Amino acid sequence: MPEEVLKRAQHELLDWQGRGCSVMEISHRSDAYVALAQSAERKLRQLMNISDDYAVLFCHGSATHQFSMIPLNLLPETGKADYLNTGIWSDKAVKEAKRFGAVNEIKALVNQNGQFTVTEPASWNLTDNAAYFHYCPNETIGGVEFSDIPVRGRTLVADMSSCILSKPIDVNQFGLIYAGAQKNIGPAGMTITIIRKDLMGKARPQTPVLFDYQVLADNASMYNTPPTWAWYLADLVFDWLLEQGGVPAMAVHNAEKARKLYACIDGNPFYRNPIDPKFRSRMNVPFVLADESLNTKFLAESEQAGLLALAGHRSVGGMRASIYNAMPMAGVDALIAFMTDFAQRHG
Ligand SMILES: *Cc1c(COP(=O)(O)O)cnc(C)c1O
Repeated sequence: MPEEVLKRAQHELLDWQGRGCSVMEISHRSDAYVALAQSAERKLRQLMNISDDYAVLFCHGSATHQFSMIPLNLLPETGKADYLNTGIWSDKAVKEAKRFGAVNEIKALVNQNGQFTVTEPASWNLTDNAAYFHYCPNETIGGVEFSDIPVRGRTLVADMSSCILSKPIDVNQFGLIYAGAQKNIGPAGMTITIIRKDLMGKARPQTPVLFDYQVLADNASMYNTPPTWAWYLADLVFDWLLEQGGVPAMAVHNAEKARKLYACIDGNPFYRNPIDPKFRSRMNVPFVLADESLNTKFLAESEQAGLLALAGHRSVGGMRASIYNAMPMAGVDALIAFMTDFAQRHG
């Protein structure tokens, strides 16, 4: 979270808009809360240039909920969907979708001479008339990111949990975009879904009511009590993003942070990033030490230096620096200084 946002939330915690109470304590049906909710949506539409052809939903829960909601809403019982598998999150999406219908899984992550890369789209066996094509533009754990949309002319469904708002995208190329809030937006517990309106209203009859995008849209994401606190913080983050110069400014900043960190890794034989440079993530930078017996020491010393959460995901080990929008350049510079010093002392 941007520090300015946390400070503002702290300042407003007990007295929001001079009301003598917290935003957490007012009714989500009150005029004040509805105005906040609408303003958050307006700001997101502005930041991402989202047209009226799309609904913007502030859903309860997480990206993992969306793994189930997507097939229930978009995959007809007799239909088939294409799913690109490029890592742990897209693999989880595949596994969940298979519970609901026919899935053509395209395993596209390969190890080539010790480096992970993604196979050429021309080699993917896509389904004629697939209901949609699901992929994960940024695999958070593996650190694998697409620099561009991999296929066109299809109903694209994209899990943007860890890359939303990090660079400009053309929303019109997508059928559905979803992102759990906790990586690049706000606190956990809320997921933003941007869905082309013509894709709604076809949920299977047994779809739980809160999983039906049309129900959420018809009720302005307030069929039930929405995650009001997360929504409020998202609104503050959107303000912050607009003040920073919006998504284009974030993209420049993020590219520079990633460039510096990869240059540090590539320039020092003590460290290695295992991803084909064409698919390196700008948000999540995994790296391993040449001498893995130093991992514990690296993590302990980095934590002492105030550099937190550098352990790789429990499923892959190694290290991972997540440098989301809110990570300032100074944070990346501090990490690079630490890594250089650590390598000198132990190399
Ligand atoms: C974190 C993450 C998820 C899972 O998020 P939950 O909120 O734990 O369900 C899914 N996809 C991507 C790309 C992620 O980064």
